[in-house]
Amino acid sequence: MALYEYDCPGCGRLFEKRMPMAEADRATCPHCGNSHPKRRLSRINVKGQASSGGSSAVSFAPGGT
Ligand SMILES: [Zn+2]
Repeated sequence: MALYEYDCPGCGRLFEKRMPMAEADRATCPHCGNSHPKRRLSRINVKGQASSGGSSAVSFAPGGT
């Protein structure tokens, strides 16, 4: 479960909803019942690029020591 933020195009309000990720696009506005609120991404803390094969961080020291 994650907390999502939505913009409702129906009533123009902002609301938050705790939804499982698979249902994140199926939220309905608690104010007007609009079933197509726009999900915002601001609350989602994306932890991307965790050690995905970048080799530039390896520190070679040629001719050292
Ligand atoms: Zn609404």
